[in-house]
Amino acid sequence: MTAPAKSHRWRPIGSPESRGYGTLHRRIRRAMLRDEPNCRECAKEGRTTKASHADHIKPKCLGGGDERTNYQPLCVAHARSKTGREGAMIRNARRRARAKMKADA
Ligand SMILES: [Zn+2]
Repeated sequence: MTAPAKSHRWRPIGSPESRGYGTLHRRIRRAMLRDEPNCRECAKEGRTTKASHADHIKPKCLGGGDERTNYQPLCVAHARSKTGREGAMIRNARRRARAKMKADA
């Protein structure tokens, strides 16, 4: 399998690592989870869930920065659903095509 050379450009789909987050992100994440160990979205719903993700409140593709104030702690489920919403526009066309194939299942 031949892959093109690693690009540092924003790519909306993929793991945090593949999107170019590096040491700075990990450092902020660790500091943030020490400060605020529980998921912020779950807290809004009156639940206490251990957070495992450092989420960009304002996505980097929309001009969000790497400053601590642009991060919030999220649990796995909330991180997935937020990332999913952000990528939804881009994936929409693909999903529509896939939905056709899944319609029989
Ligand atoms: Zn949560």
